Amino acid sequence: MTEVSVAKEEVASTGDLVVLKNVNKHFGALHVLQDIDLTITRGEVVVVIGPSGSGKSTLCRTINRLETIDDGAITIDGKPLPQEGKELARLRADVGMVFQSFNLFSHKTVLENVMLGQLKVRKAEKKKAEEKARALLDRVGVGTQADKYPAQLSGGQQQRVAIARALAMDPKVMLFDEPTSALDPEMINEVLEVMQQLARDGMTMIVVTHEMGFARSAANRVVFMADGRIVEEAAPDQFFSNPRSDRAKDFLSKIL
Ligand code: ADP
Ligand code: MG
Repeated sequence: MTEVSVAKEEVASTGDLVVLKNVNKHFGALHVLQDIDLTITRGEVVVVIGPSGSGKSTLCRTINRLETIDDGAITIDGKPLPQEGKELARLRADVGMVFQSFNLFSHKTVLENVMLGQLKVRKAEKKKAEEKARALLDRVGVGTQADKYPAQLSGGQQQRVAIARALAMDPKVMLFDEPTSALDPEMINEVLEVMQQLARDGMTMIVVTHEMGFARSAANRVVFMADGRIVEEAAPDQFFSNPRSDRAKDFLSKIL
């Protein structure tokens, strides 16, 4: 092998953070993910769109192994997904996930919610965990809410806490599955702004969303899914102005 090709391989192995190769998944007779090939490089923001039921959530859930796959391979930072135990807990910390329903612990304060994973999974010192939690809560604009319980916060504030909680684990990549879909309209922007800032700060992100404004302004790439397949991938400008597939044209005509 020549020196040049070795160097090339090294670049590829450090640049590719999340790699799915020929991933297939069934729910009984339903072939929910079909031959999915997707590579996300470090610092990239990928927005996943597509009709309801096309497999977007399942795709996210396989990446942090909330769902197993039947066939194919997924690697994060070059390593295959662990099966169970501490390694799996660490993987889930490396892959931060933010859901439509904020999933905060209701019997713990906002501060405790953001400290918990640091203490349990990352084995951080309590004082350090608290400092970091407070700094992250400030960063997402809810620093003054630290001692409240989730139910005392608005939906937009709770979702920003959920983002802070994921960030507290120093994730390599953040997955967002329709993070603003459960929010009242006036709270959507405060969450999208936090996500925009994260993207600008260089976080690697996979975002399932119907917010096309976010896709246009923050995404490096749009991945369009239908019926369990990736039908089309393109830069946002190109995708929105000139979709190639009929499925994508049809989808865009309904939402734009
Ligand atoms: P999307 O997020 O794009 O709306 P999903 O990944 O949630 O799509 O779902 C894809 C398909 O898989 C849908 O038909 C859905 O009903 C089905 N599905 C999702 N989760 C399960 C499950 N746990 N068991 C059976 N079917 C499921
Ligand atoms: Mg979904």
